[in-house]
Amino acid sequence: MNPSKNPIYLDNAATTRCDPRVVEAMFPYFSEKFGNAGSRNHRFGWEAEDAIEQAREQCAAVIGAQAKEVVFTSGATESNNLAVKGAAEIYARAPQGQRGRGHIVTVAHEHKAVLDPVHRLEREGFDATFISPPPDGVITAAMVEAAIRPDTILVSVMWANNELGTINEVPEIGRLCHSKEIIFHTDATQWVGKMPTNVEADCIDLLSWSAHKIYGPKGVGGLYVRRRKPRVRLEALQDGGGQERGMRSGTHNVTGIVGFGKACELCRDEADAERPRLLALRTKLERELTSRLDVTQVNGHATRRIPGTANISFAFVEGESLMMGVREIACSSGSACTSASLEPSYVLKSLGIGDEMAHSSLRLSMGRWTTAEEIDRAISLIEGAVNHLRKLSPLYDLHKEGVDISKIVWQTH
Ligand code: PMP
Repeated sequence: MNPSKNPIYLDNAATTRCDPRVVEAMFPYFSEKFGNAGSRNHRFGWEAEDAIEQAREQCAAVIGAQAKEVVFTSGATESNNLAVKGAAEIYARAPQGQRGRGHIVTVAHEHKAVLDPVHRLEREGFDATFISPPPDGVITAAMVEAAIRPDTILVSVMWANNELGTINEVPEIGRLCHSKEIIFHTDATQWVGKMPTNVEADCIDLLSWSAHKIYGPKGVGGLYVRRRKPRVRLEALQDGGGQERGMRSGTHNVTGIVGFGKACELCRDEADAERPRLLALRTKLERELTSRLDVTQVNGHATRRIPGTANISFAFVEGESLMMGVREIACSSGSACTSASLEPSYVLKSLGIGDEMAHSSLRLSMGRWTTAEEIDRAISLIEGAVNHLRKLSPLYDLHKEGVDISKIVWQTH
């Protein structure tokens, strides 16, 4: 099955096409089976509740959890907010409004949906340490250990980075946190559904993920909340009908949840076969582009990355101009979430990559529908566009003449 046509979609880290099998599973719940799972006294309500509980099993299975440990949300942004703020409020050491409420460890290149809640907590009296990633982008347990203090109450480290695809030492960090009795949250939005996940073995207390990154619908996601050893408690973000064991009030998005469940089930069945295929596509893309084009670099760790995501900088070419030059390819420069601004990506900058190289980067992310032919076409298109843009670049001419651009002293009048 290959539903992809022109243009070439290489932005699967931003969102994925909903799998037709997911759409099919969701379809009856729009109109025919329209009940509210909160209606406890008639068939329509029971039908919706059954569908939600089946989806909860499917979602739990893809992360190795118990169904009861899955809380449905509107996506990974909400899951991250609920995990970080909800845990901080419960495990706070000092009363609201006072300083010294506790210390949180996270990373400078986390998604904004973790960074911004942590910044808010800082304003509310918590302290935070933002670990600076090393040049390869991989966060190790040793780095987390060095950041932990006696008053640390929460560690939040993403599993795979959305811009780079780099994989952090999450199981090792989980074991470290458990040994120190610190709550551990991971934003696994770019990981779950693609890579094997087991919250038990990997000592995770809270895990966020999202349906639309794994061929499910937008606007629905999950938060895993550990129920034993330790039983993790959270302060709810919103109050109301008490759905999801009081952690997430609001009428269930039954259709979306059914789709999320089906998407997780498909990933569980198919991810093992998808991984080597995606890795082969990514390897070809990176190898060809870096060998055909000089001063071109793959950002992030060489191998410790999820299979489908490549982040490549093409020196002397501006990423936005390059995207315009390859309009047939749908991809991102920087992260999709921040590409509305022309700030160089804070993720790349946090790795020590200079503004020039950060500005000249593309994130190309492959998925279930990406074909080998599309990758071949993308390689030729990017090669052509980079060569064309470099012909217009006086700096590239100087570079070819052997001038070290970084040593030039520019005169201003
Ligand atoms: N975390 C990461 C790592 C992500 O890649 C994204 C999506 N850009 C999110 C959180 C937010 O997910 P959602 O769109 O489901 O709110």
